[in-house]
Amino acid sequence: METTTAVLHAAFFEGNQTMRLGPCAPVEPAAGQVQIRVSYCGLCGTDLHLFHGAMAHRLRLPHVMGHEMSGTIAAVGAGVEGWREGDRVTVRPLDPCGNCPACRAGHSHICHNLKFIGIDTPGALQGLWTVPAHTLHRLPDALSLRQAALIEPIAVACHDVRMGEVEAGHAVVVIGGGPIGVLVALVAQARGARVVLAEVNQFRVELARGLGIDAVNPMETDLPGLIGERTAGTGADVVFEVSGSAAGAEMMTKLPRTRGRIVAVAIFAEPPKVDLFRFFWRELKLTGARVYEEQDFEAAIRLAAAGGLPLEKLITTVVPLGKVEEGLRLMERGGEVMKVLVSCAE
Ligand SMILES: [Zn+2]
Ligand SMILES: [Zn+2]
Repeated sequence: METTTAVLHAAFFEGNQTMRLGPCAPVEPAAGQVQIRVSYCGLCGTDLHLFHGAMAHRLRLPHVMGHEMSGTIAAVGAGVEGWREGDRVTVRPLDPCGNCPACRAGHSHICHNLKFIGIDTPGALQGLWTVPAHTLHRLPDALSLRQAALIEPIAVACHDVRMGEVEAGHAVVVIGGGPIGVLVALVAQARGARVVLAEVNQFRVELARGLGIDAVNPMETDLPGLIGERTAGTGADVVFEVSGSAAGAEMMTKLPRTRGRIVAVAIFAEPPKVDLFRFFWRELKLTGARVYEEQDFEAAIRLAAAGGLPLEKLITTVVPLGKVEEGLRLMERGGEVMKVLVSCAE
């Protein structure tokens, strides 16, 4: 067990769109747990939702958010094998029950009683963070801790692309160009697919283009016409709905080829209107894709370490632990922002 003399801090969410930097007593790792010295933690749309008051019934205030992180192991609890102090890691922030029908069927990532670490339990926006050892993934030396904070959202994209059964040469459309949409496009491209990304926010269209993605604004471009042109009238092999908008749900059925696939990635606040006739007419398939499994984290780490993704360009800015609120406000304004990272090392 390590002894720390320096005072450690956490960014506490106090409700009412307020963050406070305060001292935080480190939690000694119990059996089966490890304590991690957090290096970087990314802020994401989920954190912004929490900040805006969503899922309030799941939080115990003051709450420490954060689930997209990198760090090094500081201490190891009893019975933990294969990990030791100093190991560079990231965390797959899912804590399944192990006992429900989903877990028993091998789909513990969508456990019926799933605890999401960083929402249902304290997150990574703190100096020392204690988590179950089963959540750990090892980081290769080739990957910097700064870039490794992007592994969690890349793993989301790897899961989505895997669920979409994207293959080299496939024509792929991604509807929605936020951080996840952009990562889905980049991962699909890395798999050899030909990707068009549709996004209504012009800032995001420009950002995506700067990352090497063929991005269009469907307010200005006839998207079904464009995809028809690109595929000699066949249609897209796979369409990802990542916008969570009514317009996106309406558009998604207009684009796939006969027996093409639609992947529902976004969270819809309201059940959207969907044209089921198109499913019948073209024998379309629809699949959901939620969070990630172990293999998606490993795929994300491999892909990131291989240098095939423009990771530095995805990082808009890095703020200190005391400026999480400013980081969230930056995302809220919706300008030229992709990823805001928080430096948690003290
Ligand atoms: Zn996230
Ligand atoms: Zn379960």
